[in-house]
Amino acid sequence: MGGTGMSENPVVERALVVERAAGESKRRDETHGPGLAGLVAIVTGGASGIGAAVARRLHADGAQIAVLDRDISGADAAFAAFTADVSDRASVDTAVAAVAERFGRIDIVVNNAGIGAQGDISANDDDEWARVLSINVTGIARVTSAALPWLRRSPSASVCNTASIASTTGLPQRALYSASKGAVSALTRAMAADHLREGIRVNAVNPGTADTPWVGRLLDAASDPAAERAALEARQPHGRLVSPDEVAAAVAYLVSPASGSTTGTFIEVDGGMAQLRLRPE
Ligand code: NAD
Repeated sequence: MGGTGMSENPVVERALVVERAAGESKRRDETHGPGLAGLVAIVTGGASGIGAAVARRLHADGAQIAVLDRDISGADAAFAAFTADVSDRASVDTAVAAVAERFGRIDIVVNNAGIGAQGDISANDDDEWARVLSINVTGIARVTSAALPWLRRSPSASVCNTASIASTTGLPQRALYSASKGAVSALTRAMAADHLREGIRVNAVNPGTADTPWVGRLLDAASDPAAERAALEARQPHGRLVSPDEVAAAVAYLVSPASGSTTGTFIEVDGGMAQLRLRPE
């Protein structure tokens, strides 16, 4: 670099421009308070259920939204949607590059795509164990590492992972699913430690049973859907299913620049299921 502070190398030049732009947008963010205005958020699994609610909420808070989903047919037409399978690194890399190309920045990653698994430890074969862990756990590593170069440049970088009540509480017939969500919690803390000094916060939400198409499919498959729904409602101390919007509100809090001192932790959105013991009515 010469005495002018400018570089003749176009790559360094561009890095300087990006750095200056980040500084300017940091000042803008500081003056704009807790909103997400000017920030770009990736929401995986954003075409359905909790992810769709998160996309709507972060958009309402001012963020531009990029939905990444293996099936974008249900994605809100107001959002940019990119087809990606989080279990396929090439697919993830292509989609994240397309988001960066489209918006020029990535500030927030909500790793929400996930699938269920039922039964005890003998219920699923090795291929199914590998498939569920690849989507629910390694998917977070794939998406976040693809976005890392962009998060490092963000003035307000944040990652929020969707874990579960199953991360902390033993539920019957959910061995593989619980193993995957326990791993999400451990990964959340490890990521938070690794990236703290780069200015990237990493947190999680632990929903209880939420009223989403996924749970709708489980109820439809039950021999008595009404009884199954009543049992799921009764399992949560507040006596009902969690709404996707309630989970989205917790995600919005965690990813907001207003939560700058909150990292490596989680919010339970479970009607008290993980922490409370009520006497039967
Ligand atoms: P959902 O099935 O309604 O939505 C999940 C979305 O993820 C879908 O759009 C689906 O296409 C997408 N998806 C699935 N596999 C994918 C893949 N390999 N690549 C990209 N996208 C993929 O489910 P939901 O209930 O909204 O669940 C969302 C998240 O919340 C999951 O991680 C789930 O484990 C977690 N969760 C759900 C509940 C609940 O009761 N619904 C409770 C706790 C945690």
